[in-house]
Amino acid sequence: MSLEELYSDFIMYHYKNPNHRGEIENCDLTEKGANLSCGDEITLYVKMNGDVISNIKFDGQGCAISQSSASVMIDILEGKTIEDAVRIIENFGRMLRGEKFDDMLLEDATFFESLKSYPLRIKCANLPWQTMLVALGK
Ligand code: ZN
Repeated sequence: MSLEELYSDFIMYHYKNPNHRGEIENCDLTEKGANLSCGDEITLYVKMNGDVISNIKFDGQGCAISQSSASVMIDILEGKTIEDAVRIIENFGRMLRGEKFDDMLLEDATFFESLKSYPLRIKCANLPWQTMLVALGK
Protein backbone atom coordinates (compact mmCIF):
# COMPACT_ATOMS: atom_id res chain seq x y z
CA MET A 1 0.00 0.00 0.00
CA SER A 2 1.40 3.38 -0.99
CA LEU A 3 1.46 6.28 1.41
CA GLU A 4 -1.10 8.05 -0.76
CA GLU A 5 -3.56 5.14 -0.53
CA LEU A 6 -3.07 4.89 3.20
CA TYR A 7 -3.69 8.61 3.57
CA SER A 8 -6.85 8.44 1.53
CA ASP A 9 -8.19 5.42 3.48
CA PHE A 10 -7.52 7.28 6.69
CA ILE A 11 -9.45 10.34 5.50
CA MET A 12 -12.35 8.25 4.18
CA TYR A 13 -12.55 6.15 7.32
CA HIS A 14 -13.01 9.25 9.45
CA TYR A 15 -15.26 10.91 6.86
CA LYS A 16 -17.68 7.98 7.01
CA ASN A 17 -17.26 7.29 10.71
CA PRO A 18 -20.48 8.48 12.39
CA ASN A 19 -19.27 8.02 15.98
CA HIS A 20 -18.80 11.70 16.67
CA ARG A 21 -21.68 13.02 14.61
CA GLY A 22 -24.78 14.48 16.20
CA GLU A 23 -25.78 17.00 18.80
CA ILE A 24 -25.42 17.07 22.56
CA GLU A 25 -28.49 18.23 24.43
CA ASN A 26 -27.65 20.63 27.24
CA CYS A 27 -24.10 21.04 25.99
CA ASP A 28 -21.93 23.59 27.76
CA LEU A 29 -20.33 25.12 24.67
CA THR A 30 -21.38 25.34 21.06
CA GLU A 31 -19.81 27.08 18.11
CA LYS A 32 -20.33 27.17 14.37
CA GLY A 33 -17.54 27.67 11.87
CA ALA A 34 -17.46 27.95 8.10
CA ASN A 35 -14.84 27.84 5.39
CA LEU A 36 -16.41 29.80 2.55
CA SER A 37 -13.69 29.00 0.00
CA CYS A 38 -14.72 25.33 0.05
CA GLY A 39 -18.27 25.44 1.44
CA ASP A 40 -17.39 23.57 4.64
CA GLU A 41 -19.56 24.03 7.72
CA ILE A 42 -18.98 22.64 11.19
CA THR A 43 -21.04 23.02 14.35
CA LEU A 44 -19.42 21.74 17.53
CA TYR A 45 -21.23 20.74 20.74
CA VAL A 46 -19.04 20.42 23.79
CA LYS A 47 -19.84 18.95 27.20
CA MET A 48 -17.50 19.93 30.01
CA ASN A 49 -16.80 18.25 33.32
CA GLY A 50 -15.11 20.99 35.30
CA ASP A 51 -11.99 21.83 33.32
CA VAL A 52 -12.10 18.59 31.31
CA ILE A 53 -13.71 18.21 27.88
CA SER A 54 -15.86 15.15 28.51
CA ASN A 55 -17.74 14.86 25.20
CA ILE A 56 -17.73 16.52 21.78
CA LYS A 57 -20.10 16.00 18.86
CA PHE A 58 -20.19 17.71 15.50
CA ASP A 59 -22.67 18.44 12.82
CA GLY A 60 -21.76 19.75 9.44
CA GLN A 61 -21.24 19.36 5.76
CA GLY A 62 -18.40 19.87 3.39
CA CYS A 63 -15.45 18.09 1.89
CA ALA A 64 -13.98 14.86 3.22
CA ILE A 65 -10.95 16.68 4.64
CA SER A 66 -12.92 19.11 6.81
CA GLN A 67 -15.31 16.45 8.08
CA SER A 68 -12.63 13.82 8.73
CA SER A 69 -10.47 16.42 10.47
CA ALA A 70 -13.37 17.07 12.87
CA SER A 71 -13.64 13.35 13.64
CA VAL A 72 -9.89 13.01 14.25
CA MET A 73 -9.85 16.14 16.41
CA ILE A 74 -12.65 14.82 18.62
CA ASP A 75 -10.81 11.48 19.07
CA ILE A 76 -7.84 13.43 20.39
CA LEU A 77 -9.48 16.19 22.45
CA GLU A 78 -12.05 14.20 24.41
CA GLY A 79 -10.83 13.69 27.95
CA LYS A 80 -8.31 16.54 27.74
CA THR A 81 -8.27 19.67 29.88
CA ILE A 82 -8.89 23.03 28.21
CA GLU A 83 -5.22 23.91 28.67
CA ASP A 84 -4.06 20.68 26.98
CA ALA A 85 -6.62 21.09 24.19
CA VAL A 86 -5.41 24.60 23.41
CA ARG A 87 -1.79 23.38 23.29
CA ILE A 88 -2.77 20.55 20.92
CA ILE A 89 -4.75 22.91 18.64
CA GLU A 90 -1.80 25.34 18.51
CA ASN A 91 0.49 22.47 17.51
CA PHE A 92 -1.90 21.42 14.76
CA GLY A 93 -1.75 24.97 13.35
CA ARG A 94 2.04 24.95 13.54
CA MET A 95 2.19 21.64 11.66
CA LEU A 96 0.01 23.00 8.85
CA ARG A 97 2.16 26.13 8.58
CA GLY A 98 5.25 23.95 8.24
CA GLU A 99 6.63 25.05 11.61
CA LYS A 100 8.15 22.93 14.36
CA PHE A 101 5.50 21.01 16.27
CA ASP A 102 5.18 18.24 18.85
CA ASP A 103 4.01 15.16 16.94
CA MET A 104 3.41 13.23 20.19
CA LEU A 105 0.60 15.64 21.04
CA LEU A 106 -1.07 15.31 17.66
CA GLU A 107 -1.38 11.51 17.47
CA ASP A 108 -3.31 10.56 14.29
CA ALA A 109 -3.74 14.18 13.25
CA THR A 110 -0.17 14.14 11.88
CA PHE A 111 -1.72 12.50 8.80
CA PHE A 112 -2.85 15.97 7.78
CA GLU A 113 0.74 17.21 7.60
CA SER A 114 0.89 16.24 3.92
CA LEU A 115 -1.65 19.00 3.19
CA LYS A 116 0.74 21.78 4.09
CA SER A 117 1.66 22.47 0.46
CA TYR A 118 -2.03 22.95 -0.45
CA PRO A 119 -3.20 26.24 1.11
CA LEU A 120 -6.89 25.76 0.24
CA ARG A 121 -6.91 22.28 1.80
CA ILE A 122 -5.22 23.61 4.93
CA LYS A 123 -8.26 25.80 5.55
CA CYS A 124 -10.45 22.68 5.30
CA ALA A 125 -8.34 20.71 7.79
CA ASN A 126 -8.00 23.65 10.16
CA LEU A 127 -11.70 24.59 10.29
CA PRO A 128 -12.85 22.26 13.11
CA TRP A 129 -9.75 23.03 15.19
CA GLN A 130 -10.17 26.79 14.88
CA THR A 131 -13.88 26.45 15.63
CA MET A 132 -12.98 24.47 18.76
CA LEU A 133 -10.60 27.21 19.86
CA VAL A 134 -13.41 29.78 19.59
CA ALA A 135 -15.79 27.42 21.44
CA LEU A 136 -13.28 27.22 24.29
CA GLY A 137 -13.10 31.03 24.37
CA LYS A 138 -9.42 31.07 23.36
ZN1 ZN B 1 -13.10 21.71 2.36
